[in-house]
Amino acid sequence: MGHPAPREGSGLSTSFGAMWAAITPIGRSSATGGYRRYALTRTDHDLREWFAGEATARDLDLTTDRMGNQWAWWGNPDASSGIVTGSHLDSVPDGGPFDGPLGVVSSFAALDRLRAQGFIPARPIGIVHFGDEEGARFGVACAGSRVITGTMTADRARGLTDADGISMADALRSAGHDPQTIGHDPETLGRIGCFVELHVEQGRALIDLGQPVAIGTDIWPHGRWRLDFPGEANHAGTTRIDDRRDAMIGLASTVLVARAAATGHGCLATIGKTRLVPGGVNAIPSAATAWLDARGADEDAVRDTVAEIVASAGAYGASVVEESWTPVTRFDHALITRLRGVLPSAPLLGTGAGHDAGILAAAGIPAAMLFVRNPTGISHSPDEFAERDDCLLGVEALATVIADLSGRS
Ligand SMILES: [Zn+2]
Repeated sequence: MGHPAPREGSGLSTSFGAMWAAITPIGRSSATGGYRRYALTRTDHDLREWFAGEATARDLDLTTDRMGNQWAWWGNPDASSGIVTGSHLDSVPDGGPFDGPLGVVSSFAALDRLRAQGFIPARPIGIVHFGDEEGARFGVACAGSRVITGTMTADRARGLTDADGISMADALRSAGHDPQTIGHDPETLGRIGCFVELHVEQGRALIDLGQPVAIGTDIWPHGRWRLDFPGEANHAGTTRIDDRRDAMIGLASTVLVARAAATGHGCLATIGKTRLVPGGVNAIPSAATAWLDARGADEDAVRDTVAEIVASAGAYGASVVEESWTPVTRFDHALITRLRGVLPSAPLLGTGAGHDAGILAAAGIPAAMLFVRNPTGISHSPDEFAERDDCLLGVEALATVIADLSGRS
């Protein structure tokens, strides 16, 4: 819907369009039009079959690592470390079609492009499909890359549970994987000379810059905090205002403080999940819990923002727990310089969203990203979109980068 027709006579457009048409129906909800592509489900299986089919059709060597992530290789990565691209295929609940799949489809299309030009790489080229990037089912984002890099232990991964109480260990078993074999995978990591992940932009920066493709420089520092506000349950119809200890008041006030603090420090702060006890329309809340997500380009500014929010919560007697904190992840400077050399018009862009490229970078693997313009900036929604022409320019950029990195011959 809404896609411009592929340009006639363009092999690149045909290659991209055929893959896009094949993958688009998989895991799409007929009720919402959004995607529900969750880890270790039937839909996940279908996406893996799609990936394997694309690899086989191109005579690539298909392997899986110790977390079941799929790798398609052109050349032997055990002979010399390779240039790896790719992304993920899973989604958030009712997500859009581009977040993840654009990177994987573009990787195969870029490879087709290079082969059509008669390019012979001097180094192996790999395409990876990372599993469970969004963490929609088991709650931990980038589980596929976290486990193979050792960022998340196998024990912790096996013990994660979904909303139905099914453990990841059981889900792995049901999907045909042996949960006892998952874990840190130095052999696979040793094959990655560098990783370049193409991704749809999840904001509006490229619109303002008037460019279709950007080079990713870093992933902003970000964290999550849990705020527990105390109160006292009582009757909504008989308790005088002055006699109330309403947990919701502190929460509501703190939501507004979060907005003001983030604005003042040039950061982002979101309270997107709350829980009220007892949760009755005619009951004064005896407890209110809120989860705060805060991010920004500058670590001190994020910390200052959170400090103001915590002070506000504290004034209402709340206790605050830092559930996670991830410092800034900078992509590899030499790799970015190399990308800038072949994509001179592409602006540099940091991002507030997490990615597998960030997990690999934090594990010491040279990594970088390419972002493709998103005309609305909307992501994690069925309305997420990218113009076909911009997608094809993304493929061109990726092909150029891979050709440069894998050595022209
Ligand atoms: Zn993504």
